Amino acid sequence: MRRTLASKVNAILLGAPGGGKGTISKYLQRDYAFTHLSTGDMLRAHIRDETSIGKEVKGIMASGGLVSDALVLDMIAEEVKGKKNILFDGFPRTLEQAKALKDIVDIDMVVELKVPHQTIADRISNRWVHAPSGRVYSYDFNPPKVEGFDDETSEPLSQREDDKPEVVLNRLGKYEETTSALTEFYGSLGVLRSFAGTESKVIYADIIEQLDEELKKR
Ligand code: AMP
Repeated sequence: MRRTLASKVNAILLGAPGGGKGTISKYLQRDYAFTHLSTGDMLRAHIRDETSIGKEVKGIMASGGLVSDALVLDMIAEEVKGKKNILFDGFPRTLEQAKALKDIVDIDMVVELKVPHQTIADRISNRWVHAPSGRVYSYDFNPPKVEGFDDETSEPLSQREDDKPEVVLNRLGKYEETTSALTEFYGSLGVLRSFAGTESKVIYADIIEQLDEELKKR
C-alpha cells in the first residue's frame, strides 16, 4: 500500500513511550516515502561508533536525561541537508528545539498519538522477563506456558523495575509535562493533528485519512 508523497511533506511523530510510536513509525515508512530521522537512533549510533559525541552523551542517555539542545540541533541541521519528506521521531523534545527547527525546515503536520496512560501502564506491566536469558513474555500476546515461569528453564520470571505500573505512570506524567509545551506550540501554528485510541492499527487508519487529505491540498 505504498503512497507517494506528491510534494514535500515534513512531519513530526509525537507519542508517549510504550504508546505504539514505533509501530506507527514503521507503518508510515512502509506506506509513504518518508525519510525517518530519529535522534535517539543517531545518538545510539554515535555511542556505538565511539565518536566524541557518543562519549559526551553516553552517561546522559544511560541515566534517562535529555542531551543538550545545542548538540541535538547541530546534529539535526547536518542531517536534514538535502532531504525531503522527513519524519522526525523523538525530536523535538523541548520547546527550544521546536523553535529552532522552525528555522531549519517547514513542518507540515505533527502527528500526536494519544493513548490513555492506564492502557500503556497495563500493557507494559504485563511484560515479564526471564532475566538470565533475556526472554520476554507478554501475558497478553505470548504468555509463558506456566504463569510466572520461563518455558525453557522453568525458572521464575521477574518484572523490570521500570516496567512496574507506578514507575510507568510516573514516566508518562513526566512525558506529558514536557510534551504539552510542544503540542501548544504546534497547535498555535495550526499543524497539530491528534489521534486518540488504544490500538495502533485503528489509530493508523485515522492517520492515513488525515495525511492523504493533507497531501491532496498540495
Ligand atoms: P529515544 O530513542 O527517542 O527514546 O531517545 C533515547 C535517549 O536519547 C533519550 O532518553 C535522550 O537521552 C536522548 N535523546 C533522543 N532524542 C533527544 C532529543 N531530541 N533531545 C534530547 N535528548 C534526546
